[in-house]
Amino acid sequence: MLIRSASFVKSSITLNQCPETSLPEFGFIGRSNVGKSSLINLLTGWSGLAKISGEPGKTRTINHFLINDDWYLVDLPGYGYAKVPVKLREKWIKDVKDYILHRKNLLCLFVLIDSRHPPQRSDLDFMEFLGINAVPFARVFTKSDKISGSSLRKSIQQYDYEMLKIWEIVPLTFITSTINRKGREEILNFIEETINNLSKQV
Ligand code: GDP
Repeated sequence: MLIRSASFVKSSITLNQCPETSLPEFGFIGRSNVGKSSLINLLTGWSGLAKISGEPGKTRTINHFLINDDWYLVDLPGYGYAKVPVKLREKWIKDVKDYILHRKNLLCLFVLIDSRHPPQRSDLDFMEFLGINAVPFARVFTKSDKISGSSLRKSIQQYDYEMLKIWEIVPLTFITSTINRKGREEILNFIEETINNLSKQV
């Protein structure tokens, strides 16, 4: 897919505040510092579109970006070690889960996972939540340039091993690096195909 235009539309805290639209949308989520802003900038080709935060857990809002006047890319708040009061964190989690469960035009959620770390309980629990609620999602292993090919394969196998304890199959998986632009075409092509398949069904 060629990116012809990409623009920021709106930041929302709750589902009700999100733009009213029937355009398809694709969400990006992951633990703080996983490389989400960097990946969004890589995909859209507009550096700085999603601000790369040096401070873990900075993104708190549901951010809508309109791509090619055709679909929305949605930057969702990072989960994980945000240094905030428990009550506030619970409120964010509730708002994001509400969006994920009830946003009708959400076609796929990309769950970003840092390739360098062994399976994290928070990532596994979050994907289990998506599975239980039949939310379509794909895994994205980020920062693949930071480890060797064999370590990367091992990382993915470890996730597969944990997930196959409760799943029959492993979800669709992408591998990315913003340093060597790995995974960009694959993710954009997948988004394009998903949108095309949807228009064939209508
Ligand atoms: P976010 O908090 O998930 O939005 O993460 P950022 O996009 O701000 O990235 C966190 C840090 O990881 C930054 O220092 C980025 O430069 C770095 N980073 C992100 N993606 C990659 C990648 O693919 N390769 C490498 N080497 N560094 C990355």
